[in-house]
Amino acid sequence: MNAQGCDLLRFLHDVGSLQCSFSASFARMTVAPPGNSAAPRILVVEDEGKTRESLAEGLRLESWHVETAASAASAVSSLSDHPFDLIVLDWMLPDRDGIDVLRTVRQRGVHTPVLMLTARNSLNDRVIGLDSGADDYLPKPFAFAELLARCRALLRRPNWTNERLLDCGDLQLDTRARVAVRAGQEINLTPREVDVLEYLMRNQGQTVTREMLEREVWKQSQRMTSLDNVIDVQIMRLRRKVDREGDERLIHTVRGVGYQLGRTSP
Ligand code: CA
Repeated sequence: MNAQGCDLLRFLHDVGSLQCSFSASFARMTVAPPGNSAAPRILVVEDEGKTRESLAEGLRLESWHVETAASAASAVSSLSDHPFDLIVLDWMLPDRDGIDVLRTVRQRGVHTPVLMLTARNSLNDRVIGLDSGADDYLPKPFAFAELLARCRALLRRPNWTNERLLDCGDLQLDTRARVAVRAGQEINLTPREVDVLEYLMRNQGQTVTREMLEREVWKQSQRMTSLDNVIDVQIMRLRRKVDREGDERLIHTVRGVGYQLGRTSP
């Protein structure tokens, strides 16, 4: 067996041992239901089926909401559909490599922390990974406990949510002074419009649904009456102020779903 095959076996063995201990403790652990909005959302991108499912199963036992992607294309598509709190990204994928995915999502302004997984472990590879926007790097084979510890560390880390200055093209928002400027000119926004703009800018390049705005901006977790119309009107007003005649369009409608802020339309 070649070195790569041995590595894979060691990794699967690690995952297998963990699965045994998971099974023993499964009964007393609570798995987050898919609709649990407070649970961190993790995207696992790995083409090898058994590894992908073992990773997803292990991470779900942390009560995290886990989605999986088996290719670069499906990872990029998931990332444009929903915001995630963490991406576990395999380097070697069948269509494009993980580094390509990483560069694409960073270019779109997605700041989600990324943990790269790879059998490649030369210094040069690690430098390429980190320079392309990865936040951490874990060579295969690895013990699941270490992966978990690194995921927890990345989820704890103060990241883009603490960033004070946000920008997209010639639009800037100072989230502390609550002042938005486009092409050097201040935009006169109401407090609610600033809240909506900040949420859209923090999730730029990703689709923001009306439900997300309702929950995160209007702070309504129970849908007593739908706020869809209120949200649509608010976005219409915000868009008139942000995307004026002749400006590059930054606030896009995602038909039937919600909105997306970014330099390219979804
Ligand atoms: Ca792979």
